[in-house]
Order: sequence, then C-alpha cells, then structure tokens
Amino acid sequence: MNHNTRLEDVFGNGGLLSRNVTSFEHRDSQLKMAEMVTAAFAEDHFCAVEAGTGTGKSFAYLVPAMLWCSNPEHADESVIVATSTINLQHQLVDKDLPFLKKALNLPLSYELLKGRSNYLCLRKLYEELREGPLLDTDSDDSSFSSGLTYLLGWAKRTRTGMLSEVEKPIDRQLSGRVCSDSDTCMKNRCPFREGCFVLQARKRAAEANIVIINHHLLFADILMREHEGIGADEQAILPPYDRLIIDEAHNIEKNATNYYTETFESLAAVRHLNDLHHLKFGMPRGIAVRLLPFMEKGNTLESFIAAGDRVRKAIDELDIQLYGLSGYAGGGSIRFTSGPSGLPADVLSPVVEAALLLSVELLHMQKECGSLAGLCRENEDSTPLLLELQSIARRFGKASDILVRFREVDELRHLIFWLEPVSFSRGRGSARMHITPVSVSHELFTHVFAANRTVICTSATLSAGSDFSFWEKQVGLFGHDDNRYFRERFSSPFDFTSQMLLGIPSDAPAPSEVLLYKSFVCDFTGKLILSSEGGTLVLFTSYALLREVGEYLTGVLKDQDIHIFKQGEMDRSKLLAEFIADEKSVLLATESFWEGVDAPGNTLRSVVITRIPFRVPTDPVVSARYDAVKESGGNPFTEMSLPEAALKLKQGFGRLLRHRNDRGGVFILDSRILHKYYGKVLLKSLPAARLEVREADSLLDSFENFLFADINADQIPSRHKKTLQP
Ligand code: SF4
Repeated sequence: MNHNTRLEDVFGNGGLLSRNVTSFEHRDSQLKMAEMVTAAFAEDHFCAVEAGTGTGKSFAYLVPAMLWCSNPEHADESVIVATSTINLQHQLVDKDLPFLKKALNLPLSYELLKGRSNYLCLRKLYEELREGPLLDTDSDDSSFSSGLTYLLGWAKRTRTGMLSEVEKPIDRQLSGRVCSDSDTCMKNRCPFREGCFVLQARKRAAEANIVIINHHLLFADILMREHEGIGADEQAILPPYDRLIIDEAHNIEKNATNYYTETFESLAAVRHLNDLHHLKFGMPRGIAVRLLPFMEKGNTLESFIAAGDRVRKAIDELDIQLYGLSGYAGGGSIRFTSGPSGLPADVLSPVVEAALLLSVELLHMQKECGSLAGLCRENEDSTPLLLELQSIARRFGKASDILVRFREVDELRHLIFWLEPVSFSRGRGSARMHITPVSVSHELFTHVFAANRTVICTSATLSAGSDFSFWEKQVGLFGHDDNRYFRERFSSPFDFTSQMLLGIPSDAPAPSEVLLYKSFVCDFTGKLILSSEGGTLVLFTSYALLREVGEYLTGVLKDQDIHIFKQGEMDRSKLLAEFIADEKSVLLATESFWEGVDAPGNTLRSVVITRIPFRVPTDPVVSARYDAVKESGGNPFTEMSLPEAALKLKQGFGRLLRHRNDRGGVFILDSRILHKYYGKVLLKSLPAARLEVREADSLLDSFENFLFADINADQIPSRHKKTLQP
C-alpha cells in the first residue's frame, strides 16, 4: 500500500481489513469517518466526530494519518494523537498501530511519549547512590537503598526508562526522588545526557511519524512554548506539528481545566522546608546543610533558618484561620468568595490576611535561597544541590504568587477561588487552595484549534441529542461555522433494539424520598444481580449510597458465589481486571467508572444507573460556572447541567454493549427520567434500545426472558426457570 491507497480498499467489503481481521465486518460509518479525516488532512479542517460504540474509530483516524505520513511530501511532518486515558494509549501503541503498520505495509514509525516525571533520571539515580538520599525521606534506609540498587540494574536493561515498566513494586518516595523533573534537569550540562531516557524519548518522538501522548502532555507542550517563546517550527516537549488528533475529546475541557488550575498546599511547602533544613536526632540535615562545605568560611545559615521558621509560623497561622471554615465544608470543597454563593466577610478576611502574610514570608524565603546559592562555589559536586535549591526557591515564589491572588477573590471574576479541605482537627485546618479559570475555551481555541492546520476531535459522546453546542462552547468552537469546521455523528453499528433492553421501573420512588429510594435501589439491584447471575455494573453518583448498597448486597448475596467489587478496594486497573476476569462478579462504582469500563463478551450483562448524573451544584467550580452563565443572561440548567448529564448518561449507557454479539439490560432507577420534562431530552440522547417501563418485578421477569431468549432450556440456571415464559 502507499499514500495513494483508496480508503475503500482498506475498509470496504473484501478490503485489506476484511482479509486480515477474522471478525472484521465492513461498517459504512467507519469508512465515512475515515473519509472525513482524510479530507481534514488534505483541506486543513477542524472536525468534531462523534462515533458510536463499535464504529472502529481508532482505525478510522489512524489509517488516514498513516497514509498521510507515508506521502513523501509529508515526510517531515509529525501527527500527534492525544488521548485522555492510559488504556487507550496502550491500545493504540501495543495493538492498533503495530497491526496497521504490518497490514498496510507502510514504512512508518510511531512512538509513545509520556510526561517527564514518568521517566527515570539517571543523574538523580547516581546522585542518590553516591551520596545517600539527597533529600530526607520517611522510608527506612534499607528499603530505600535496595530499591536504588534494583533501579540501577533495571536502568541497564530498560529501553524506555519509563518507571511504569519497572518489574517489581518500588517505594513511592523513591520513585518520586529519581524521576525526572524540569526544574532540576541539567539539560545540556548533564553528564548523563547521552543515556538520558527523557532526551532519548523526545528524540525518538521527533523522528516518529505518529506520536501518541495524553491530553496533559499536549497542554504541557503548549505552556512550555508560550512561556519559553519556543516557535511552532521548533521542538519543545513535542516535535513541531500542525496535525492533531484528539481522542476521548469529551474530556479535553476537563483535562485543560485541571491543567490550568493552580494549587497551593501547605503540606508541600513544609516538605520543601524540610528538604532544605531540618533536624534528625538533633542533627541538622537537608540541602542547605550539605551546601555548607561549598561556602566561604564565616558564612552561616542563621538568617536562612530564621526565614524558614517564619514560613512555618505563617503556615501555622493560616491553618488556625482555615479551621474557621470547618462549618462551611459540609464534607466537600468550599467556594472561596463573598457574595450570595460565598462566605461571610468575617470568615473570609482572616484567611485572606493569613494567606497574605504567608505569601510575604515565602517571598523572603525565596530570596534567602537565592542568597544562599550566591554564596556557594559551583562545581560538579555542588551543582545538583544548587539545582534542587533553585527548584524549591521557584516553588516558593509560585506559591507566594498563588496566595497573594486570594486578596482579589471578588475582583478577578475570570477565576474561581476554592478550597479543598484535607483535615479539620484540634483547632487547625488544612486545605489545598485552588485557583481555576471560569472558562478554558479561549486557551483551547487559540492553542489547540487556531494554532494547527488539522484538528480531529473524536469520542463516542460529544453531542447531547444531536446538539454539539455544549461541547463546542467548552472548547471555543461554538459559532465557528466557517468553511474549516465540520461536525458529524456516526451512529453505532450495533442493533440496540435486539441487543439491549433499556428498563425503567415505573414504581421507583423519587431520589428526594431518600429512605424509600435507597431501599428500592438495594432491593432492585439485589434481584437484578440474581436475574443476570452477576455480570453487573452499578453506577452511582454518590459514594455514600455506593457504600450502603454495597453493605446490603454483601449481606443478601453472601451464599450466591457472586463476588461484589467496590470502587476504592484496590487500584482502578486491578479492580477492572478482576471484575472482567470473573463473569459472575458485580462492580459498584462512581465517577470515573461511568466511562472507560470496557468489558466485552459475557462479562457484563446488566448495567444499573442509580441516578441521573447531574453534577453537584455545590461543587465550587460548577457553582461558579453556573453563576457565570446566569450573569450573561443564560440558563445554567439547560445550557450546562442538562447537556452535561446527557453526555455522562450516554457514557454510562455505553458500558454495556462493546461488541456486536453482546446482549443485556441497562436500568435507570431515577424516576425523574419519566416524570420531569427534561427526562425526554435525556432519553432522546441515548441510542434507541428496546425501552420497557414497568413495575420492578415485571421488568425483572421481562429482562430474564430477554436475556435467556436464545439459550437452550437446559442451559438456563434453574432459579430463573420459574420466571421464564414458555
Ligand atoms: S538530562 Fe535531565 S533528566 Fe536527563 S539524566 Fe540529566 S538531569 Fe536527568
């Protein structure tokens, strides 16, 4: 194949994919999507492509990108593919790209590039081995040094230096100490630059035709170019590029918001102070102490230590004032503003004053770090220490800058000030202090769309109903109806009416009837799990309800050989792997599990959506964004809350069918979907499955009939036979 290959010859009936993939079936939607992507490359378009489950969207953008790169005229170009999740990155790099490269027989290269902190820094590793821990650690010395020795051996074997590939678990503090970071990287002056994993990974990425990254790295590159004045035709973190594919694009705004959020955390400031100077068994330790031999005789650390003590005192004072907010937390984050949705002035002001005082002390400390660095001779031995010192000094400066802006919480209307409590006890509070932009649409439009020639944004959920406007407003594309921007929806090729029953129990109490509703969810979910013999994913919007339902199910199902997994019991990927491996198990989960659970085949036979996934209006970022819509004369419910819930509902709904042969039921236990005017809007946003609205018991009987319709009578589990219709 070559760059002139027709897409029909790849995706069509009898085409390359049908000859090479056993289960491949021609899908019109896949071919059309590939044609749209090809046109976007050739004619410099931005595209928003919603592709339902089963479209095969990764092939539909990878093949056009590969054909584009194989054209000798584009030999110098890099195509960037950014995803939101690690799982998708690995699917692209480990499965899709190797397969397509072989099948298309194209001389192309691709590379997975991660953020710097994912790679081992050889200089830091050798530094730690030579000197012992450069910074103080809580880990015991023997596990720390055995970890270092192990990493030394691993560093000689690994090709990538990615710490996620280390074969055995290593101490988290240790990996934090030896991972690369931009503040302390010596770059061209580094004696280890020849073997440096970060530089090698970036070099390979610069030479690759296709580079796979995550959304976060896309923004890190954008910010680096902006701050350091690096031109579009030069390498920053990424090679120069102007063709960009963003998969899982429904998350691009959320990831940009996280990236542009700035945070002060007093615990981190204390950790940095300890890194610089602290006492262990009465003996002074830390970077400053280790720099003493490089200073002229007669110099002391007196004023440096005094400045550090003043910062600690100011942190104490801030913690005392933060305790005054304990009554406003209500178990969640606090919007830090005055006015109707904010805090009384007598609660706000003491915190602001304490934050300002700390801000001043942090600036003094930054200056002290600068003075200390100025007193030290710079040589091979002192340079790593000086780099750490300067890195911490910069962080103090940044922290000071964040805190000082809390003085203007009511003036800086484009920013949201909010606190995330860590603990309130014994008269002291501890909280992360965040500043988040009200909107990131300008940044996204300017740096992602306007800066590139081709941008493909794709996901299974970009539109509510058929309306893209919510997502378009988030990313700055709304109203951009010129001849460069195109949007399209490609429906899933699955036959939802025969593969899926969408059940809504008509006798479910409203969620506002808290006790009745809770008891209904427990009872219905328990019976459903028995009906489908496990294989059930239960999606919650609140962790409290998850816990209560979990306790109930553990009790009623204890003799049924059905394992109940609960979110939080183990890390996400392990939890999913165990759930998928056990076809009779049940998974109870919230938030992030509404998407990214990919359990094809018989693993998943039923999905329960306990509540319509409206965002919590008391969340500070949500509440500030609602206020902004109101102030501009809009309706936050119809413009934000409803479309956002529709997208999330569609994500949850999409968990069930991952393959043409999958079959099962999705059950929505929130009666508002039947009785409120917006229920119709939400239902319309879902693919048209076989909808059944009945009383709970009748619905469960109907589901059993549906689920076992094609199964021989002797294969039906005995407990179901009594309910099945002849
Ligand atoms: S160049 Fe930077 S990341 Fe690489 S080994 Fe040196 S200090 Fe570490």
